[in-house]
Amino acid sequence: MEPSHGSLLYEGKAKRVFETNNPDELLVHFKNDATAFNAKKHSQLDGKGMLNCKISSSIFRYLGKEGVPTHFLDEIQDCWMLARKVEVIPLEIVVRNIASGSLCRETPIVDGTELSSPLIDFYYKDDRLGDPLLTEKRVLLLGLLSSSQILEIETLSLMVNTFLKKFFIGLDLLLVDFKLEMGLARNGKLLVADEISPDTCRIWDRNIEDKQDRILDKDRFRNDLGGVMEGYSEVFRRINEAYS
Ligand code: UDP
Repeated sequence: MEPSHGSLLYEGKAKRVFETNNPDELLVHFKNDATAFNAKKHSQLDGKGMLNCKISSSIFRYLGKEGVPTHFLDEIQDCWMLARKVEVIPLEIVVRNIASGSLCRETPIVDGTELSSPLIDFYYKDDRLGDPLLTEKRVLLLGLLSSSQILEIETLSLMVNTFLKKFFIGLDLLLVDFKLEMGLARNGKLLVADEISPDTCRIWDRNIEDKQDRILDKDRFRNDLGGVMEGYSEVFRRINEAYS
C-alpha cells in the first residue's frame, strides 16, 4: 500500500519523488529498477527498492546521530522515505578509498589499490552528456558552485567518509567508494540528499579474498556476477543485526 502523497515531482532511474502537504517535505519511493551504463542496461530486481530504502534509512539515521546534516526525516513504509526538500546541486560527488571502477579504467591504478588519502571526484549530473568528470575549475566555470561552496562540500564529503568507513568496518565490510548528492534546504543549509545504498557504494566483504565473491554492491549487476539481491541482503542483514 502506498502512503498518501501529492503529485509526482520527479521520476529517476531508481526513485520517484512526490510532493506532500508540507512544502518542505517530500516522499521518496525506492523502485525495483536496476540500471547501469547510463540506463543502457536495465532490469527489475524484486526487493531492491525495499532493501535500498532500509539500508539508506539506517545509514542516514547513523550519520544524523554523528552530526552529519542529511535530508532524511523518516522511513514510512518498506520502500518509502520522508525527506526534507532541497534544491539539488547537479553534481555527483564520488569519494574513493580504494581504487576501482572508472578510476581504474581511466588511469593506470590497479583495482583494489588502497589510496593514501581519500580522493574526491565531481561529476556533472547530465545524462545527455554521460555524467562527465569535472575539474574544480570547470565546476567554477559552469557557475555550479563558488570556491567556498566547493570547500564546504569537500569537507562534508570527507566527514561522511570518515563516519561511513567506521560504520562499515564495524560490520566487517570495506567501503571502497561511494557517490553522494547534496542540496540546499530552504534555510540555505547544505544537506546530504538522495540515497546511500549498495546502488551508490562499492562494498566488499572484508573476510573474502576472492575479487568477485567479496563484492556486495551494484557491481554484481554491472558485471553480470549474479547474486545481486543476495549481496544487498547480506549488507542489510549485518546493518540490521548491529543497529536494530
Ligand atoms: N556511482 C553512482 N552513480 C553513478 C555513478 C557512480 O552511484 O551514476 C557510484 C558507484 O556505484 C561507485 C562510485 O559512485 O560506488 C564510483 O563510481 P565510478 O566512478 O567508479 O563509476 P563506474 O565504475 O560505476 O562507472
